[in-house]
Amino acid sequence: MPLKFYNTLTREKEIFTPINPPNVGFYSCGPTVNNYAHIGNLRAYVFADILEKTLEYLGYKVKRVMNITDIGIMSSDADTGEDKMTAALLREGKELNLKNMRELAEFYTEKFKEDLTKLNIKIPANIYFASDYVKEDVELVQKLKEKGYAYKTSDGIYFDTAKMPDYGILRGGKTTRDESHTRVAENPEKKNPEDFALWKFNSKMGFESPFGQGFPGWHIECSAIGMKFLGEQFDIHTGGIDLIPTHHTNEIAQSECATGKKPFVKFWIHSEFVDIGSEKMSKSKNNFLQLKSVVEKGINPITYRFWLLMASYRTKVNFNWEALEGAETALKRLYNLYMALGPEVGNVHQEYQNKFKEYIKDDLDTPRALALLWDVFKDPNMSDPDKKATILDFDKVFGLGFENLKEEIIPAEVLKLAEEREQARKNKDFKKSDELRKEINSLGYDIKDTSEGPRLHKLG
Ligand code: AMP
Ligand code: ZN
Repeated sequence: MPLKFYNTLTREKEIFTPINPPNVGFYSCGPTVNNYAHIGNLRAYVFADILEKTLEYLGYKVKRVMNITDIGIMSSDADTGEDKMTAALLREGKELNLKNMRELAEFYTEKFKEDLTKLNIKIPANIYFASDYVKEDVELVQKLKEKGYAYKTSDGIYFDTAKMPDYGILRGGKTTRDESHTRVAENPEKKNPEDFALWKFNSKMGFESPFGQGFPGWHIECSAIGMKFLGEQFDIHTGGIDLIPTHHTNEIAQSECATGKKPFVKFWIHSEFVDIGSEKMSKSKNNFLQLKSVVEKGINPITYRFWLLMASYRTKVNFNWEALEGAETALKRLYNLYMALGPEVGNVHQEYQNKFKEYIKDDLDTPRALALLWDVFKDPNMSDPDKKATILDFDKVFGLGFENLKEEIIPAEVLKLAEEREQARKNKDFKKSDELRKEINSLGYDIKDTSEGPRLHKLG
């Protein structure tokens, strides 16, 4: 079974072969650090983490690069509206200058990294602030100017989309318009409605450049950082699906026109959205939830990761607390079952491992892989140590933290009894469940039934 991913570029599940195996160059669009990340944003990073862990699990050597968008991001994809970082400075009552902008960016970047850690997401080793690579942006813009792809208007330097015959390939061709350009008031100086800013002038605040003071365009930041650290062509680029019609479409345009090489990226892989109340969760709609709300409800943040893995990354999910609480109960059950397996680690079960590989190689089919994890727990023919080894093996991809449960002091015998009691209760065998509880008490523990399931604690 070959490794396959759904490639937005071809709209097909394709066999994945890197340019330079076993190395994989992998770029993820990072967060805009004008505010706290919401749990919708975090889905994009849980997905990228699962993808990275899967590639590593399968023996690839991954170089993962991620930018931090800390400058040059407009409220509209059509390069109009206010600058999001400037708006954040105004919101926080800070004076408008580059130093304050950087400080604000660093603050929200740290918060973002804390969220990643809570979700067991490996923070990419190569993480870069866009504001540190303005020189590279300027060089790219100059190259595009020299090659005749860029022109100047009164408010910036723009990319001339008419000069690129296959502009818009990622979203299904030129005829598929990007709606954002029909929604917003057009800049009359642009030659074509979809031409986008490579550089925006700003006389009050900004970076020096041969074109004038200002900020790089959002899209050029990702092209410049991607190419600097991964080369002019690389293997994988990820982001949420909203980035397809404009940001990624324009990254392709400016990168391929600057280098003359196609494709800029072999595999474009996009994760679906998290909705809330059947609406897109977004920073601008103010309907977003942060990870801290999950923690405040007493829910383990890993539960959010676990809940996301129950759906394919290409399925839209609708967030609600009942679903998350259900996931919390299921995850606790898995943890309890794991703890009941005892301390010994045996051998990874080959057949299960083959199946697991088959599922994750099929465009990261985590729902099926999770069902397989339950099968391992329930298999009566497997020894506890072998179960443990197999679960830890799967968890290299899932990242649910089974390994860290080692320190738990509740003895396996107690956990086993608690599990039996839960079964008895489910079967409405209350006599047996009471007896089991007494047995648990005699070992120095008690059980509290909470809305999230039974919770064991030490007596006294
Ligand atoms: P931003 O911080 O706005 O630049 O977005 C960071 C990442 O979150 C991007 O990859 C977006 O595509 C993604 N994203 C934004 N909103 C959502 C959402 N509601 N659900 C899933 N992903 C989202
Ligand atoms: Zn990007």
